Amino acid sequence: MKKARIIFALVLTIVMTAQSAIETFAAVDLSVIKRILSGEKAQAQEPAAQDTAEQETVAEGGKALLLTEIDPDKPLVALTFDDGPTVTTEKVLEKLEEYGVTATFFVIGKQINGSASDTMKKAYDLGCEIANHSRNHNTMSSMPASEVSDEVNYTSDKIKEVTGEAPKFFRAPYLAVSSEMYDAVDLTFIQGITANDWVASTDTETRAQTVLNNVKDGTIILLHDFYGNDQTVDALDTIIPELLSKGYQFVTVSQLFEINEAEPEVHTGKIYSSVN
Ligand SMILES: [Zn+2]
Repeated sequence: MKKARIIFALVLTIVMTAQSAIETFAAVDLSVIKRILSGEKAQAQEPAAQDTAEQETVAEGGKALLLTEIDPDKPLVALTFDDGPTVTTEKVLEKLEEYGVTATFFVIGKQINGSASDTMKKAYDLGCEIANHSRNHNTMSSMPASEVSDEVNYTSDKIKEVTGEAPKFFRAPYLAVSSEMYDAVDLTFIQGITANDWVASTDTETRAQTVLNNVKDGTIILLHDFYGNDQTVDALDTIIPELLSKGYQFVTVSQLFEINEAEPEVHTGKIYSSVN
């Protein structure tokens, strides 16, 4: 099903203090990059190629942009993190920048304030996807539909307010779902493979090996960037290089659907742990 060869532009590094660097970056047509990231198949190759010169300029200004060519013959994987934004999210972003890979963050609405809000915006600007993980992170499977809607809509509104883009995907707190939730939520439900990384006693190596033992082409990996979850940050130093060495290409959840030419289902009771 992977017919199109797609070029994605990924923003790699943000360390900019000099005004000249900011001015250089401002010259880049961000809308083009965003459009490429959003995966417009038919047009992706051309605008990306045309932007090469501009990206080199940006790199000189202290901000590196990477063009990653998606090879349809190589496997895809979507790294995702629940329970941010927090200070741990910043540490995850450092790892993503170090390895030049993207991810999707399922955020808790009540945490989108102050510096955590800035962190979420930074993730978005780096080319990561922001998705919905409820407002208060309560178990929602026994909630009435109106309360479910309030939980989800609050967070979607906050994400839109900060990034300018509404989320497309939802992950239920504790993965607890109900038919009422499938009816009430206008987003696609995502699950993924887990590594028991919400339990403090799960050591770094076990987290990494649990992920690596279960990944296949199209897998969505579910990890956590809640406050203090540094063992998962450390596990990325094993997970990401290992998967890269096996030919895996890291994409957002949206890109996973787009590259596989799969339409994300809404209101059907479908929940995705992989797309291929
Ligand atoms: Zn959660």
